[in-house]
Amino acid sequence: MQPSLAQHVEIFSAPWVLPISAPALTEGAVAVAGGRILAVGPRAELLASYRGAPEERCQALLMPGLVNGHCHLELSHFGDIPAPAPGEPLTTWISRLLARRGAGEGDGREILARAIKALREQGRAGTVLVADIGNTLHEELWRPDPGLPEVLPLLELLAPTRPAVAAALERLAGLDDALAAAAHAPYSTAAEVLCAVKARCRRLGQVFSVHCAESREEVDFIGGRGGPFEDFLRQRGAWDGTLDFSGRGHLGSAAYLHALGLFDGGTLLVHGVHLSTEELGLVAATGSHLCLCPGSNQALGVGRAPLPEMLAAGLLPALGTDSRASNPSLDLWREMRLLAIDHPRVEPSLVLAMATLGGALALGRDMDYGSLAPGRVAMMLAVDSPELARCQSAEAVCAALVNGGQPPLVCRIGSGRGDGQVHNSAGEYAA
Ligand SMILES: [Zn+2]
Repeated sequence: MQPSLAQHVEIFSAPWVLPISAPALTEGAVAVAGGRILAVGPRAELLASYRGAPEERCQALLMPGLVNGHCHLELSHFGDIPAPAPGEPLTTWISRLLARRGAGEGDGREILARAIKALREQGRAGTVLVADIGNTLHEELWRPDPGLPEVLPLLELLAPTRPAVAAALERLAGLDDALAAAAHAPYSTAAEVLCAVKARCRRLGQVFSVHCAESREEVDFIGGRGGPFEDFLRQRGAWDGTLDFSGRGHLGSAAYLHALGLFDGGTLLVHGVHLSTEELGLVAATGSHLCLCPGSNQALGVGRAPLPEMLAAGLLPALGTDSRASNPSLDLWREMRLLAIDHPRVEPSLVLAMATLGGALALGRDMDYGSLAPGRVAMMLAVDSPELARCQSAEAVCAALVNGGQPPLVCRIGSGRGDGQVHNSAGEYAA
């Protein structure tokens, strides 16, 4: 390393470094320059390679920032919509949400203010990238801000009837290429629109996100057995046969989307609670991605995603919080903890990988986020807690991170997004 170059390099070191894409390091370090990671390795090696570079010593652990694979920031002002009672279908909650939105609850300024607050809270907890699904355009929310997580905006379309299909296709045609479109769900969006959104995502190289297999009732509906979703669409005057699956039912929501030709490495299926082993095989064979939302699933009582079967199929799902309308918290540490409680036999290191690399892969951003590796954005988390300080093995470190909820100290560190600042969990900036 030339001395002139070393002057621009910074070394961040810690007793533990979790690259996620490589084995954990004891007494590890990360070399950073120009907002990107140059190298990751043993501290002694990096200090020798970049002699003269300043070193910042972190107390316990360095890891990549968290990635929220699924959120609806525009619903952040809804924190008190009652979940379905035991035995009630998911549609009761959807009806309550739509009634509140339909009543115009929250003016534009309040919605935006609550969304930015929710985003800021996620940033303080260590989230660096959020996939934000919205039905309306909130450009202020999606504008780059070095103090906030990066937002990947996805404009969501629904189309249960012929007039809605025409309106959705028109909106899609007029959409700025910089903005990705998303489809809501197979139970709310006609095949024609699902295919048009996916075709546009393919053309523009954007992620195609769609809710899939969230509830048992959804699978019944797509299976041609009617049920609460048909009743719901009829009650809302959104039934003209466009979404009539009777006589042409599918084995599952994912089987249906696959039959439409929508699966490839750019497709992200959100929830996946009710996917069969065969459907998981289709997801894996096509390189498609999953995002699990355990907090939302628990709150709405729709069941638990079959994580062990997903892992056995070779999939690494992302983790998402969904919205405040279906989750009391947008904290990915809580999502990890809930997932670990639901699946105690799953290795904590895999849960940690889901909340970082899984999300980055699912959103097509693994060259920037999700791991500590050369070329990635130098936006790391320095994490500390009394329990972490006592850990003697990488397994114990991962278990402490996954099972403990949000650690007492989470600092965003490095010079990611060019801000050159350290962001601590109190939301203040230090030099
Ligand atoms: Zn959602």
